[in-house]
Amino acid sequence: MDSTEFRKRGMEMVEYICNYLETLNDRRVTPSVEPGYLRHLLPSEAPQEPEDWDQIMSDVEDKIMPGVTHWQHPRFHAYFPAGNSFPSILGDMLGDGIGCIGFSWAASPACTELETIVLDWLGKAIGLPDHFLALKEGSTGGGVIQTSASECVLVTMLAARAQALKRLKAQHPFVEEGHLLSKLMAYCSKEAHSCVEKAAMICFVKLRILEPDENASLRGQTIYEAMEEDELQGLVPFFVSTTLGTTGSCAFDNLPEIGKQLQRFPGVWLHVDAAYAGNSFICPELKPLLKGIEYADSFNTNPNKWLLTNFDCSTLWVRDRIRLTSALVVDPLYLKHGYSDAAIDYRHWGVPLSRRFRSLKLWFVLRSYGISGLQHYIRHHIKLAKRFEELVLKDKRFEICNQVKLGLVCFRLKGSDKLNEKLLSIINESGKLHMVPASVNDRYIIRFCAVAQNATAEDIDYAWDIIVDFANELLEKEQHDELSEIMNRKKQDTLAQKRSFFVRMVSDPKIYNPAINKAGTPKLSMELPSPVVSRGSAPIIRTQSSVDHNSWISWPLAFLFNSNNEEKGNNVSLRFRHLDTNVRPSSSRRNSGAGSSPSPENELDYVNVQQHQQQQQEQRSPRRSPMVVRKTSATRENPN
Ligand code: PLP
Repeated sequence: MDSTEFRKRGMEMVEYICNYLETLNDRRVTPSVEPGYLRHLLPSEAPQEPEDWDQIMSDVEDKIMPGVTHWQHPRFHAYFPAGNSFPSILGDMLGDGIGCIGFSWAASPACTELETIVLDWLGKAIGLPDHFLALKEGSTGGGVIQTSASECVLVTMLAARAQALKRLKAQHPFVEEGHLLSKLMAYCSKEAHSCVEKAAMICFVKLRILEPDENASLRGQTIYEAMEEDELQGLVPFFVSTTLGTTGSCAFDNLPEIGKQLQRFPGVWLHVDAAYAGNSFICPELKPLLKGIEYADSFNTNPNKWLLTNFDCSTLWVRDRIRLTSALVVDPLYLKHGYSDAAIDYRHWGVPLSRRFRSLKLWFVLRSYGISGLQHYIRHHIKLAKRFEELVLKDKRFEICNQVKLGLVCFRLKGSDKLNEKLLSIINESGKLHMVPASVNDRYIIRFCAVAQNATAEDIDYAWDIIVDFANELLEKEQHDELSEIMNRKKQDTLAQKRSFFVRMVSDPKIYNPAINKAGTPKLSMELPSPVVSRGSAPIIRTQSSVDHNSWISWPLAFLFNSNNEEKGNNVSLRFRHLDTNVRPSSSRRNSGAGSSPSPENELDYVNVQQHQQQQQEQRSPRRSPMVVRKTSATRENPN
């Protein structure tokens, strides 16, 4: 394709996109295809010879579009919005056209500098404290665009881990880093997004998942007690991930309380994940939701969710950029340049080396809409959500399950979880509306999010009419005790698969892994050689943990740690959630003594334990016992 043809095809593509967006209403919001549908429509090999562009585009309409879920559809109310706007699309188009890879300032100065400036713009608009802004006099902080909120959480956890290990290593220079790592504990709420757990797995640290209050908000006292008790066990709290606007129900952790409590644990990194809600803080009346941000070390929000910016554009700000980059710097000669000391090199702020010119689209959006236009958009969605909430409240058969502060309404039919599952299934199956479930306070709820950019009050009323129609039908059928029969006849497998896909997109692990409910809360088995640990100058006598009654630990590759609970009659399986299996140490490991990690507080203990472990190792047979892996659910074979 030469530039003459590109001009022609480019105009046609713009036309196609405009038509697509303008006529979305004529399409089903969700596709009605089965897995593998596309394989039957496309050849199994790439064409040897060039193909005609018209033919390619005709295949887009005939073969690709039937398998697309239309996230910009006025009937799409699932998840959170997928940011989309014409200025943003044009920004991406220009970025792709320029095609630079801005990993360092020298690799494309404008790419780096625009990102810094635009992140300062947005940070100011959100109301972040000055220390998060790169260009503020005396500031050590700054912002960066990452691919996703998951990546923001990961890189901040990596930075916190590096800081914690550095600190511990300075205190205990002769303790091996692996042992220090085994002491680190991160914290989040049960309502936090599952990306926190994934980050902990990648960082190879333990994560204590805490119970929030009845409003799905993590409280300061809960986190304080957990950290205090973990310290008594010889563990080292190093990272707390809080959420402003949880995925399940858009709940807000109590940041002021948590921030205050964390001051008692100097060195612990406080991260704030506001992937969806953070965008709304550009509205002055919503800034109170950001209260407590002054305690935070880092903050992320996704303009690609709720600020009309296309994926990918997840913005992260840190209080201290050196603390972030020192965890991620590698500096080979071929990437060095003459201005390394004077300029920002964003390759040190994240995992990938190569970076797209993503700031262009955010710059286009901020300039085209202005802050006032974006505020109008946010307020409009909130108004629509309030309208939907009112409709739900008027029908006494339904209840509202969250505090509707932004664009997400959680609701359910008064009745069993099963009834609500059925309601959602038949609505989604119809293709007339698309919503997803979540679990709030251990109850199955349906999430309704204002999503489409230009959604109207009529769209909300229409959606409610559909919900009511299906609810009427369902309740009628229930009354006649016929529904279960009808449902069972409906392609059971397909439904189960779809449901499992929906629920994996929301945060509560209990939904997607029934094993967690079955297994209960695993107890931390981490006996230390020393009964006394100390924080600061005050020695503290180790006590039995009580926190584990309402929290659980996500343990990275726990089975490798050789702990043996069976020995003490404590036959609690360790969760290995990402595989949906329960993993238990083999009983043949009895009396190994391994799993009793030495305390970094006491290097002498460490030496003793190491000697002891060496002796045990020698006594053990050279072949390691296999792990006992129990499948917990026959339906969980498919990792999707
Ligand atoms: N954090 C929160 C609060 C979210 O709601 C989500 C997704 O909805 C994420 C993190 C993950 O976002 P991403 O897909 O950008 O990794």
